[in-house]
Amino acid sequence: MFMTAEVRTVTIGRQRLRVAIRPARNEPGRPPRVPFLLVNGIGAHLDLLEPFVAALDPAVEVIRFDPPGIGGSPPPGRPYWISGLCRLIARMLSELGYDQVDVLGISWGGGIAQHFAAFQRARCRRLVLVATATGTMMLPARPSVLAHLLTPRRYLDREYLQRVAGNIYGGLARIDTEEIAAAMHDSNRAGLSRGYLYQLAASAGWTSVPFLPLLRQHTLILAGDDDPIIPLANARLMNLLIPNARLHVYHGGHLGLVTEAAELAPVVDAFLAAPLSSWRLVMASSGRTALTDGDFYLIEQMLDPAGRRLLLRVREFMEKSVQPVINHYWTREEFPYDLVVPGLRELGIAGQAYSGYGCPGGGNLLDGMIAMELARVDSSIATFFGVHSGLAMGSIYLCGSEEQKQRWLPEMARLEKIGAFGLTEPEVGSGAAGGLTTTARRDGDEWVLDGQKKWIGNATFADYVVIWARSLEDQQVKGFVVPAGTPGFAAAKMRDKIALRVVQNATITLDGVRVPESHRLQLANSFRDTAAVLRMTRAGVAWMATGCARGAYEHALAYARQRQQFGRPIAGFQLVQDLLVRMLANVTSSACLCARLSALQQDGLAEDHHSALAKAFCTVRMREAVGWARELLGGNGILLENHVGRFVADSEAIYSYEGTREINTLIVGRAITGTSAFV
Ligand SMILES: Cc1cc2nc3c(=O)[nH]c(=O)nc-3n(C[C@H](O)[C@H](O)[C@H](O)COP(=O)(O)OP(=O)(O)OC[C@H]3O[C@@H](n4cnc5c(N)ncnc54)[C@H](O)[C@@H]3O)c2cc1C
Repeated sequence: MFMTAEVRTVTIGRQRLRVAIRPARNEPGRPPRVPFLLVNGIGAHLDLLEPFVAALDPAVEVIRFDPPGIGGSPPPGRPYWISGLCRLIARMLSELGYDQVDVLGISWGGGIAQHFAAFQRARCRRLVLVATATGTMMLPARPSVLAHLLTPRRYLDREYLQRVAGNIYGGLARIDTEEIAAAMHDSNRAGLSRGYLYQLAASAGWTSVPFLPLLRQHTLILAGDDDPIIPLANARLMNLLIPNARLHVYHGGHLGLVTEAAELAPVVDAFLAAPLSSWRLVMASSGRTALTDGDFYLIEQMLDPAGRRLLLRVREFMEKSVQPVINHYWTREEFPYDLVVPGLRELGIAGQAYSGYGCPGGGNLLDGMIAMELARVDSSIATFFGVHSGLAMGSIYLCGSEEQKQRWLPEMARLEKIGAFGLTEPEVGSGAAGGLTTTARRDGDEWVLDGQKKWIGNATFADYVVIWARSLEDQQVKGFVVPAGTPGFAAAKMRDKIALRVVQNATITLDGVRVPESHRLQLANSFRDTAAVLRMTRAGVAWMATGCARGAYEHALAYARQRQQFGRPIAGFQLVQDLLVRMLANVTSSACLCARLSALQQDGLAEDHHSALAKAFCTVRMREAVGWARELLGGNGILLENHVGRFVADSEAIYSYEGTREINTLIVGRAITGTSAFV
């Protein structure tokens, strides 16, 4: 279990304490950091915080311990009170050679941390209070939640924990109890019930309300917006009472420090590392609460628990596996096939909106939000996925016969075969409806395809390319599934794009390509059927545009909070906040519009003009938002390493593909006036 720390036993008088210390990694030229002491919640052994410790800046030394009677520390001879425990902690620190530390306390440990900061003032430099409150004078949890906290049963009985975790811990525990059960039980040294009861007794009757206004330490308060044990109002109360406090609210529950460690550790790191001067200015100028998530209207909460869980897995994959390497591929115009295809395969998200044929059937909202989540980190990966799962699989799903769907969709849903979609031609883009020049000639039981296609995403490595061609028999547009490698088929990679450089677009040449009648999509009889595919995928592109804008916004917000000019974070300047709020408004209005469009799709009510309006609106809002994000980063905005520059470049392609703004506007214009203005 211990990847980061060295474990030892420290004896203070007659009390032995199990202590874990993660040493600091010294970096030449950087001054040593103040050691960081973590005080855990009631009943919790020190191992529980391992994910958080692993995510903290390696330059910081981290000290954890099991309180008496918990984990690996034997119970004390008699009960103790909170002040006694604080004295014990002070002696433990002396024994370990620490003069002053920064202190983090979570839940019950937050009470200990407040007391320690007040009464061992010289030993505590800064204070971090997580999911905690003011003791007896707090806004209590519901009785049904409190009842579960009276005994240590959740630490001793894994099945019981899994049953109740959602209700008592909230946040991610509502949708995935496995991670929390593993964190609490896998390396558990089941503490004795006596130790747990002593902990309960230690804080009985205790409250910090009288002394919080006297705290001198700079304090960061972290609170989840879905914490059934400590309702959010408690954090707001402490924020009011502590003179130098700042409140950071995260989306999540009581154990956010464990389940959202990757998100919260940098917040804590930034707080601990900030110079005192900038902290004062942050306090004075930029308010106390920060909502850093771009899902401002909580659209994610419209998903069911399974959908939210899947979305978080997508986020984790994109942030941890794709984001760190994607600029490298962007620069080299390469697609990280071996990373992305197995990764997305494992997530099981292809064909999300379709029912049957091995597709997940998660519905349109989840499908759209996955597109947003992918684009939030990288628009190229979202485009790869949109071409495969939307355009190619969608053509087969909407226009294929039953037999064709059975044949191709399951292997495409498993991402064992990759699809592409060939409609646009070198001389025919917006005017594809009436102007396709690629021809299909019937020859007995076969079709012969001739012509050229341009811009076809995934085509350099796709297994199947859906080719749209005009039949010489009836002059109608028909769709054909052309396997890669068919004689006469050639795909040449397009180079030197300034947008979506990771997407492999190709110019396709079809020179007497023969496919059997069984490869003609049996329900595609005219361009009207092609348009049905585009109607569906344009909704996906609107979601992607929202994701691209959201990614740029979130990068810009994080940058604004740490970039300093004129001696203060630029987030505190009115004109910078104006940019941020404009971006957020664009992201939020787009997301709300997309969510409604998904509902229309789900109910079978979406028409061409609904998707067209969303595509046009969201891409315009995206283009504005990424530009503002770039502006906010100043010169750093054009450096790839800050990501926003890539969003700016990539947005140009999203703006134009799957129907330009003009074409989508004309579709809506035709619907509302009854007059076509295309020609
Ligand atoms: C990165 C990328 C990936 C793509 N991937 C695919 C793919 O996988 N498969 C595929 O088939 N295609 C793909 N495309 C093609 C894309 O769909 C077309 O670029 C798009 O439809 C616009 O066509 P065009 O570029 O030929 O522009 P054009 O049609 O030449 O339009 C040029 C300009 O004229 C305007 N215009 C045209 N007609 C009118 C009109 N009637 N009234 C007013 N203004 C008008 C347009 O809005 C635009 O501003 C991709 C494109 C890009 C950039």
